[in-house]
Amino acid sequence: MKTLKQAFPEMYESGRLLFDEPLAPYSSFQIGGPADALAKPKSQRELIDLLLWALNSNTPWFILGKGTNLLISDKGMRGLIIGMENYHKLTRDENFISAFAGVTLKELCDFAQEQGLAGLEFACGIPGSVGGAVFMNAGAYGGEIKDVLYCSKCLKPEIDSLTSSNPIIHFRKEQHEFRYRNSALQSLGLIHLSSVFELKYDEPEAILMRMQDLHDQRNDKQPMDMPSAGSTFKRPEGYFAGKLVDDCGLRGYRIGDAAVSDKHCGFIVNHGNATAAEVLELIRYVQNTVKERYGVMLETEIRIVGEM
Ligand SMILES: Cc1cc2nc3c(=O)[nH]c(=O)nc-3n(C[C@H](O)[C@H](O)[C@H](O)COP(=O)(O)OP(=O)(O)OC[C@H]3O[C@@H](n4cnc5c(N)ncnc54)[C@H](O)[C@@H]3O)c2cc1C
Repeated sequence: MKTLKQAFPEMYESGRLLFDEPLAPYSSFQIGGPADALAKPKSQRELIDLLLWALNSNTPWFILGKGTNLLISDKGMRGLIIGMENYHKLTRDENFISAFAGVTLKELCDFAQEQGLAGLEFACGIPGSVGGAVFMNAGAYGGEIKDVLYCSKCLKPEIDSLTSSNPIIHFRKEQHEFRYRNSALQSLGLIHLSSVFELKYDEPEAILMRMQDLHDQRNDKQPMDMPSAGSTFKRPEGYFAGKLVDDCGLRGYRIGDAAVSDKHCGFIVNHGNATAAEVLELIRYVQNTVKERYGVMLETEIRIVGEM
């Protein structure tokens, strides 16, 4: 079997296949050790070939969006990490916008606004990719991806499916089974390629004003100027995670350079050189304190990945 480098010489020579690549710069937490290999496909063919290479060689693989919902281990990630940033295309057809997985939500929202298409304003401050947002059913300010999604194209990472004459799985809206920060892409293990969003016509100026308003609200309340992975914990039923943490007196509580944000207790932030181990220790400390005081077990919303 060919090595990755032998199998993808063009990707290697163009700098889209990297070895022992530190992952901290690919994570909004700015934390994470090296990936054995990081590949950045720019076409469906390259993505399928990379997956086939991993499946045929029994190499573990992982799809990386913008890394804004991840805590990556200090030891990094083994196997092949597939970064979707170059899998990037945005098009419009009437009131529908199609976006590839590697497009950022900001790019999608700005494009929709310029085109006079409303509905995505809620997402303009969520710092992830379209792939990550559909996978997670990202949401904010009363809106969720499920409200605007029309359909998606996905891949099933299995050799038979990827080598079939048509490996693309067409997913209608209802097939996504969207729930709070969850979609069927997670339970089915599918890879998101692209989605079409159904939007409503409106004046670009009116859309821009709503986006700016939400942007200001977010900047007022959340530590957008500090490295983090967004809300650390899921919202427990009947409570707000940030308030529980605050009521336990943990505002600003720090382990090394990892700290509960002073601005919003639902966020853990990196003061500069935090390690994943420090963040994990802080997560456990917060979980135990809240459990002891209020009997509520906070579940992490951020995904903890890599070699522990
Ligand atoms: C400051 C800040 C504020 C945030 N605010 C919000 C908010 O208001 N609402 C909200 O919902 N989230 C919020 N988040 C969290 C995060 O932005 C979202 O969860 C986002 O959808 C993650 O997208 P991503 O591309 O960064 O995914 P990543 O973090 O790279 O990955 C997350 C998961 O998605 C999977 N994935 C990524 N791309 C694909 C793909 N193409 N196919 C299959 N799986 C894929 C990954 O394997 C991983 O399991 C915030 C984060 C930060 C840092």
